[in-house]
Amino acid sequence: MGRGCTSNGAGNMRVYCETGELEIKFSIDVEDSELGIDTRLGNKRSFGYISKGTEFSPHPDKLALVAILNLLPFAKGELQIMWGISKRFQKACNSVTRVKIHSNYENISHSSTIKGGAALSFSGGADSTAALAVMPKTTECVFLLRSENPGRTLYDSDAAMESCRRLNSLGYQVHIVESDFEYLRNPIGFPTDLAVGTPAILLCDSGNFGSIAFGTILESAFGTSGKAYRDYRSSGHFRLWSALFEAAGIGYSLPVAGVSEVGSSLICERHAIGNVHQSCIRGKWGRPCEKCWKCFRKSALLAAIRGSTDGVDYIRKIGASKEVRRKVVEDRPIKHEGVLTYAFERIKYLESEAFELFRDLIRVGEIQTKWMERWYSGSSDLICNSYRDEVVENLERILGRMSDDQESHLKGWENESDSERDEKLARFCKSAGFLD
Ligand SMILES: [Zn+2]
Repeated sequence: MGRGCTSNGAGNMRVYCETGELEIKFSIDVEDSELGIDTRLGNKRSFGYISKGTEFSPHPDKLALVAILNLLPFAKGELQIMWGISKRFQKACNSVTRVKIHSNYENISHSSTIKGGAALSFSGGADSTAALAVMPKTTECVFLLRSENPGRTLYDSDAAMESCRRLNSLGYQVHIVESDFEYLRNPIGFPTDLAVGTPAILLCDSGNFGSIAFGTILESAFGTSGKAYRDYRSSGHFRLWSALFEAAGIGYSLPVAGVSEVGSSLICERHAIGNVHQSCIRGKWGRPCEKCWKCFRKSALLAAIRGSTDGVDYIRKIGASKEVRRKVVEDRPIKHEGVLTYAFERIKYLESEAFELFRDLIRVGEIQTKWMERWYSGSSDLICNSYRDEVVENLERILGRMSDDQESHLKGWENESDSERDEKLARFCKSAGFLD
């Protein structure tokens, strides 16, 4: 123990692992010095995975990748992997500078080079369903079933499990793995966004998956859900995780990174498997909660796409949900505001002064939105090369490529909050009666 290991004094976290055919358990040891007031690590010191069918037989590098995806945000000085990993994987870990990730055990040979079939980290929502729609028919889905706990009341897996059953009856292979890793964090939540893919990582070797795809869309990859366009490939997130996945022998693939939320909804509307999804993770299957932010955004977007003529009173809808009202009034910009701009430019609605002021706030008529319907071809190198051509062909057929003009609207995306926007917001809130 401790051979050649230097501590910078900022604490030490050790992770251990026990593997079985259908169950994998990780446990951690944390030095007190690791637990500052700024840590989000709760009291839980172990987390596990239970497969509902397919047996696990992961390479130790893949176990290490799963540990890192779940623990890196909580580690400060060192994260010690208490089993042997390959030199190749250790080398990729060395690129993490904030935390020293290492194993003192003897190196083992690395995972064979990336080969095998396509897997998708499937959530049951529109984005991963859209990804599946454009991926090869042989793609296998891996669904993370989040363990229930009295501490978390809003999430309901009913709709997503129904999505899995429907995919299964359409001939897709769907693997279900339950995990409780989100309870490591206080407040409860995923430690990293890609932790959702850890069940698929653990099944890579037994399922013979060469790559894992995620339903990450344009707004997340290229910044258009926020203040400005950015190229995902130059981000620290991409550099770190794509290198660690590759070192563990897994291709990191984002088939819909060039598709906006408008586009992913269009794919679900136009493709035969589109109706297996439900965006709301609170309601039961077929009965979305109609109160959450996702329900609000999606219902407006679908009304716009389908050309619905029901004149819905959206101002009343905003006022009726605390969560929606808070997002609209407090977030600057509103998260995924561009999707609302697209929807409210096209939607039939009940006319009112407040609604006009809301359209003004979200820049309806001021910015271009047509590009959101098309595929951004500059994202093609984020798609795993073993099936890239097929995905590109499908995206071009279903959505079409953005024109040069449309690409320039995407790349010019900006939505900084300023005093002019604050004035618009104040006028809207006053007219809608949202002043308290
Ligand atoms: Zn909902």
